[in-house]
Amino acid sequence: MKKFDVAIIGAGPAGTTAAYYLAKAGRNVLLVDKASFPREKVCGGGVTARAFNIAGDLLKDFPFNLVSKVYFNEKRTGIEIVIEKEEPFIFMTEREEFDNYLLKKAINSGVVFYSNFEVADFKKGKIFSKENTTIQADFIIAADGANGYFIKKNKKYLKLVPALEVKIDKEMFPNHFGELQTRFDFGIPDGGYAWIFVKKNSASVGVANVANKKVNLNDVLREYLKSFWFLNDKLKFNGYFVPLLKSNLSSCQEWALLTGDALGVADPITLEGIAPAMLTGKLAAKAILSASSSEQACKIYSQKVKNEIYKELKYAKIVSKIIYEHPHLRKFLMKNYGSRLAEKMAQVILHETKYSDEFRNKNNYWKLIKYLFD
Ligand SMILES: Cc1cc2nc3c(=O)[nH]c(=O)nc-3n(C[C@H](O)[C@H](O)[C@H](O)COP(=O)(O)OP(=O)(O)OC[C@H]3O[C@@H](n4cnc5c(N)ncnc54)[C@H](O)[C@@H]3O)c2cc1C
Repeated sequence: MKKFDVAIIGAGPAGTTAAYYLAKAGRNVLLVDKASFPREKVCGGGVTARAFNIAGDLLKDFPFNLVSKVYFNEKRTGIEIVIEKEEPFIFMTEREEFDNYLLKKAINSGVVFYSNFEVADFKKGKIFSKENTTIQADFIIAADGANGYFIKKNKKYLKLVPALEVKIDKEMFPNHFGELQTRFDFGIPDGGYAWIFVKKNSASVGVANVANKKVNLNDVLREYLKSFWFLNDKLKFNGYFVPLLKSNLSSCQEWALLTGDALGVADPITLEGIAPAMLTGKLAAKAILSASSSEQACKIYSQKVKNEIYKELKYAKIVSKIIYEHPHLRKFLMKNYGSRLAEKMAQVILHETKYSDEFRNKNNYWKLIKYLFD
């Protein structure tokens, strides 16, 4: 039976980030994925400046499409706010390329990778594949994403946000592609938002129903595409969901450290999941590096998740509630404080401020909102 220091289930951003940092520190790491890479992943592919803070040198050479101008729109008021910065603050990727790049980085740092290895079961110190291969490991990290074992197990603590996305190729719409802008349209649908993320030769267009209201997302996406002259029978819509925490989960279960979507740590406002996945991957690696047993790693990791993630999510959830579940309040805020809110959003994305800092600021009206909604 093969033995490793750490076994990581899932080679998305959470798993590869954890693997990279562990191997760089000299650990003997096995990373497994049920898919063979490069593999597709339904995703807008927007990475924020937040991810760079977390990733260190890991993202240094990736050829992102840089975005420094973003349009924020609110459907009910029709108000549009444009945020333009000197520096880019959203970095666009194709997930297939991005995840494959992270995987290569992990392999180059010494990680052993098994593709087409579907984990069917595990227990303390062991993982078992569907084909009955058993691997021994001192530590296990679960990075198996939105459809994995822990999401199914913890369903009652999570809100599963349905999202539908389509990839638009430049060559399919040569006359209109150049007019596309990177944008967030809040209120399309009423309890969610629509997005356009522009890349070099393609764009991701999608809609998410964050409030889980009764709505046909397929129709909403068709209408949205139509409004930009992008409706075509050849387009293939891909649906998936983003797991969001309703209440804090134990970040260590069955002796596995839960990371990324498996822990439901995506941002409840933007649904940004790549940076939080990388952050939890890095925190899990750090916890393992400073622990001498899986019990100790669990303790250290749980504390880190509480301090660095749950504290932020607590505030982000309040803002999310206002935006998606109280459209009248959203309209009021957008009318009266729209520019300031959009600017704050950009600052969070740029890692210049945090939700918790905004709520703690004594002169801030967020205090009142917290009082009303907490
Ligand atoms: C429509 C849509 C648009 C999105 N847009 C954005 C965006 O623009 N920006 C952003 O930051 N986030 C976005 N997200 C969220 C983001 O995609 C996820 O939060 C992110 O991929 C989570 O990373 P992860 O590493 O936790 O999981 P994943 O990237 O899902 O990786 C999990 C891996 O585990 C593997 N796996 C699963 N089960 C097993 C098993 N039993 N054995 C072995 N391997 C297994 C899978 O094959 C997969 O490779 C979007 C999500 C959706 C649905």
